[in-house]
Amino acid sequence: MKFRVLFLALFMVPVALCFAPNAQASPRIDVVIRFDDYCSGMATDSVLRFFLLFEQRSIPITFAVIPFEGPFAPPPGQPDAKPLTEEKAWILKRMLSAGNFEVAQHGFSHEDNTTETPKHSSEFRGLTLEQQMQRIKRGKELLESRLGIQVQSFVPPWNTFDENTIVALKRCGLCILSAGKSDPELQSSYSIPVIGCGAGVATLRKRVEEEQKDLDHHPVITALFHIYEIKDFEPSGTFTLAELAETLDWLKAQPDVCFDTLQGAAKRQYPNLYQSMPAVDPQ
Ligand SMILES: [Zn+2]
Repeated sequence: MKFRVLFLALFMVPVALCFAPNAQASPRIDVVIRFDDYCSGMATDSVLRFFLLFEQRSIPITFAVIPFEGPFAPPPGQPDAKPLTEEKAWILKRMLSAGNFEVAQHGFSHEDNTTETPKHSSEFRGLTLEQQMQRIKRGKELLESRLGIQVQSFVPPWNTFDENTIVALKRCGLCILSAGKSDPELQSSYSIPVIGCGAGVATLRKRVEEEQKDLDHHPVITALFHIYEIKDFEPSGTFTLAELAETLDWLKAQPDVCFDTLQGAAKRQYPNLYQSMPAVDPQ
């Protein structure tokens, strides 16, 4: 009898604890890769080489796309802003058809409209609600007609915006904002899912390793980068394509890392808020 009790204590209890539901929160780290400044002027071969790294590993990217090139209101005699070229739209369509990719709107033309001193670059901050709506609406319509999609996420150039931007986004049917760091207070006051961006690709592995120490939460890490950060294309860059591939392979090997787009992260992190947004397709 004593032996039976001892057996239960030594073997069965630990086994039961291991398999008990919710014995320990399962860790999960959502990684969103945000690639900013996709535009007409980018070198096509660079974009395709970079894109292949992600496509081959089935890792999603959210492209923050600049819809136009040139000022929103050009001076008299100057040409109108040029829309995203058919070629660059075709590449995006191909990426979207590969699945798991997202196109977010990155302003109108990344024009610096700052009038404040000292100057902190911004396309939107300080403009009137009407001015912001005009830019957002025209940019969104262009992307949607060129790509045949509904754009839901907005990334303000330089990650700068103000209260008018939030109102303008909602009125224009955009339902996710990605800018700056996650801030629960802003989140609740804006009533719109805000997915921050607090890491670069070069520091992404370190950020994930830090988050892996805490198993009780399910954070989103948004890694932001630009094509000029890649040394293969720009000598002053901070990492090579090979280093990027190495980081992606390491991330793929982490059982607690899941990849997502801005839209996917917003749905997962803020399901009630996301579903209450007017632009959401009920499907
Ligand atoms: Zn930008």
